Amino acid sequence: MADTSCIIVGGGLAGIAAAVRLAEAGVPVTVIETRQRLGGRATSFTDPTTGDTLDNCQHVLMRCCTHLLDLYRRLGVEDCIEWHDRFYFIPADGRVDLMQADSLPAPAHLARSLLGFKQFSLREKLAISRAMWAIMRCDRHTVTDQNFADWLRPYRQPQRVLEMFWSVVIVSACNEQLDRVSARYALQVFQDGFLRNRHAHEMGLPGPGVPLVKLYDPAENLIKSSGGAIQLSCSAEAFEFDGQRVTGLRLGDGQTLQAEWFISAVPFDRLDKLATPAPGIAPGNPGMRQADARLSRLDEITVSPIIGIHLYFDLSGVMTLPHAALTQSPLQWLFNKGPDPVTGKGQHLHGVISAAREFVDRSAEDLARMAVTEITRLFPVAGKAKLLHHRVVKEKRATFAITPGSDKLRPPTTGTIANLMLAGDWTDSGWPATMEGAVRSGYRAAGAVLGRDLAVPEVAASRLYRWLAISI
Ligand SMILES: Cc1cc2nc3c(=O)[nH]c(=O)nc-3n(C[C@H](O)[C@H](O)[C@H](O)COP(=O)(O)OP(=O)(O)OC[C@H]3O[C@@H](n4cnc5c(N)ncnc54)[C@H](O)[C@@H]3O)c2cc1C
Repeated sequence: MADTSCIIVGGGLAGIAAAVRLAEAGVPVTVIETRQRLGGRATSFTDPTTGDTLDNCQHVLMRCCTHLLDLYRRLGVEDCIEWHDRFYFIPADGRVDLMQADSLPAPAHLARSLLGFKQFSLREKLAISRAMWAIMRCDRHTVTDQNFADWLRPYRQPQRVLEMFWSVVIVSACNEQLDRVSARYALQVFQDGFLRNRHAHEMGLPGPGVPLVKLYDPAENLIKSSGGAIQLSCSAEAFEFDGQRVTGLRLGDGQTLQAEWFISAVPFDRLDKLATPAPGIAPGNPGMRQADARLSRLDEITVSPIIGIHLYFDLSGVMTLPHAALTQSPLQWLFNKGPDPVTGKGQHLHGVISAAREFVDRSAEDLARMAVTEITRLFPVAGKAKLLHHRVVKEKRATFAITPGSDKLRPPTTGTIANLMLAGDWTDSGWPATMEGAVRSGYRAAGAVLGRDLAVPEVAASRLYRWLAISI
């Protein structure tokens, strides 16, 4: 493949994944990234007040994220991920419920701990079991234009169960509310993440002292070793198009780069711009959208926000658990990040609000105050602690909105413009907008260039699950 060259626009996980797989196959790639660092939405920034390197938001993976884990392995950073097999659910009264697998085979491995939940009555637990059975017996690929709240309706879920169980899992996994999320992807979360394999649900978090951006450091050497390069702080302006093929990529400084293959690994709105240059710059370009159906509906995709709230307390024991889902709080998840890395004292907690439409217009101070109120209510020792510093990160365009019918807007990797591959979490990766979806799309794009399938096997379904379930 030495006479093949490829330009990848976008150095997020989709672009990194494509670049790594191509570099390993000996293809020289040039990654064009507008920011000063790799990682896109799954990266870190320097807090201007403390100098600390913070992740824009806690990023969580699960064992079922086989492609992301494969990428981490190729980058040699797999050991930087810490695995958690205990999940803590805390309702308004502060009593902790633990979800943990026991020795039963999947899909029964979590049943005993769920049945032990104090926050649900027996009737509510039976309702969850009823719906869980139906989830397992459903072929999600036949479910298209329905939201998950409607899908659950025949299984008569009490309001408390909808809010304190289904919503808690789905809003954080899919970044959409139950009555807006495509049922197909909500079903996928439970089928592939919780039911098919006894380890699939385990939660991976970058370990202490490992900001997300560090995970991508090895990519540079890997890419260089095959004659490629990463150009940071470098913006792509427009694709040049001759009516059939992409012939070049025009950069912000006026330079045009040429290659045999082009992979777009930017979000859909950016791709829309790359396919629509300013009038007069490249006369052939207006035809790109008409030439390729993959580019014709980019402006119809909508987004959903996420808010991350970093809080630094002067005391170290505000929260003793490593993380918790707060089932009756606007602050949906709380992560214990340990002592302040700069001073080595106190405690850094990180709160997350997904599908945060009703919160994004509130001020950072207001959101931090709300988070402290919630934390103090659930962990009363916080009342004795002083909040030293906070940093609120609002990602208004965090992910595309995975609503019913949104699949029709997610384009495939390849299309009429044969030397342009599309990647990104918003393309038809078969996953919600996640790091795993981004890496899958990057592998597919690299596979299309190489002419082979680079997919990685899914986690194995247990024998019992294979026997009971409809869609494996
Ligand atoms: C707050 C938040 C929390 C999240 N939490 C989780 C989580 O817990 N678990 C999970 O799996 N996922 C999570 N996600 C989703 C995850 O971050 C994304 O799905 C994934 O990172 C998307 O990767 P990508 O490569 O497709 O896109 P991006 O990360 O958006 O990468 C695109 C890159 O293209 C660059 N770019 C754009 N335009 C140009 C241009 N013209 N020229 C050059 N470069 C350009 C951008 O700078 C960016 O680096 C979260 C996202 C957010 C925002």
